[in-house]
Amino acid sequence: MNCLHIETIEKPQTFKNGITHIRLECIDCGRFIKYKPQHVETFKLWFGKHKGKELREVPKDYLEWYKKNGNDKKTIERINLFFQS
Ligand SMILES: [Zn+2]
Repeated sequence: MNCLHIETIEKPQTFKNGITHIRLECIDCGRFIKYKPQHVETFKLWFGKHKGKELREVPKDYLEWYKKNGNDKKTIERINLFFQS
């Protein structure tokens, strides 16, 4: 059976150099998918009810809403990157 790797789980993995990356693995078959880009990880919202949270901690609904209604281009750029990753 081919697994489509639709759902992923995030697992922090610390390397010998001390840097922690988030590993994405498939929930169904456990296969490694990719590492999440670090710059996306560390971007935090600086306004609104989710102020101070990283994008992955913010409900997707809110990010989708901001993409349509928000006015900070940089934040929208980051959200787009986040959805691609
Ligand atoms: Zn899979």
